[in-house]
Amino acid sequence: MKAIILKKPGDFAIEEIPTPQPKADEVLLRIITSGICVNDVRDFKGENKHSFPRIGGHEFCGVIEKLGSEVDPKKFPVGQKAVQYVIDSCRTCYLCRRGEENICLNMAHSKTLQNPDGLSGYGGFAEFIAVKAEELLLYPDSADFERMAFTEPLACVVNSVNHADIRFGDDVLVIGGGTMGLLHVLLSKKRGARVILSEPMKERRKKALNLGCDIAVDPKLIEHKADVVFDTTPIPAVAKQAIELTKPGGVVMMFSSIHPNTPVEVDLGKVHSLQKKIIGSVNSTAADFQQAVLLIGKKIIDPTPLIEKIFPFEKFGEAIETAARPDTYKVILNFSN
Ligand SMILES: [Zn+2]
Ligand SMILES: [Zn+2]
Repeated sequence: MKAIILKKPGDFAIEEIPTPQPKADEVLLRIITSGICVNDVRDFKGENKHSFPRIGGHEFCGVIEKLGSEVDPKKFPVGQKAVQYVIDSCRTCYLCRRGEENICLNMAHSKTLQNPDGLSGYGGFAEFIAVKAEELLLYPDSADFERMAFTEPLACVVNSVNHADIRFGDDVLVIGGGTMGLLHVLLSKKRGARVILSEPMKERRKKALNLGCDIAVDPKLIEHKADVVFDTTPIPAVAKQAIELTKPGGVVMMFSSIHPNTPVEVDLGKVHSLQKKIIGSVNSTAADFQQAVLLIGKKIIDPTPLIEKIFPFEKFGEAIETAARPDTYKVILNFSN
């Protein structure tokens, strides 16, 4: 099979490597589409501490190609559309045991991040991947691969929105109108909120309004305080502003990682006296993944307006450059030709 191998920052090659053979409890998935995440861009730029060589891509989907000897073909029919729950959690630490496998204690040792003996990475930038059958989530035949590629990013937003506990009639402020910001807009609308987007780019504000966002404003003019504030930007100064824009009794969600991660000064006296909740959200649980599959599979959420461009995987160089531009939405690789 062909795979996109990142040898070191900025240096990739599309190579022919052996197609993995599924072990007894595994399924071979033929990858059709694979979204490029900001984390793949950071790997490419050398901003993450992951080991090389690496096959990135954790926003992939495809069809079941072949089953390991112990996998039940009634549960996992060949030809069925599917995605993998990509978080490589240990299933045995106390956080995994209480359903928070997205913050598994042993994640740092996962080969998806570090592999001194060979390839690291989630493996989604390749024509095939062998995954444990129990990690697969199935899609109905009516699902299409462009939408299915949004499963992982949407699952992260499901985790964020579920933790924020939006009530009917709340004002929700989403800071940042990129792909993740607009997914927050879409899910918050489903929760019965009035949704306000803070975003400097006019085009992005327009897109948000077209997607059903109630109000879209330039950050310089923002005066709305909100019951729930989602910060989807990596900028420390914006995190500080997000806390200040949270109403008494409200929730501020630190959805994005902070880059560079410089500490933010917070008026904790106000957090106390106004009973604000500052919380974080990272990755997604298997339950969040299942919810994302249902949202996309039942067409409750349509992420297609958030597709910037679909590239054949052979054009990875052009694709990653497009994904790295700050003004673009989701870039997807197509492996199906
Ligand atoms: Zn991602
Ligand atoms: Zn664990």
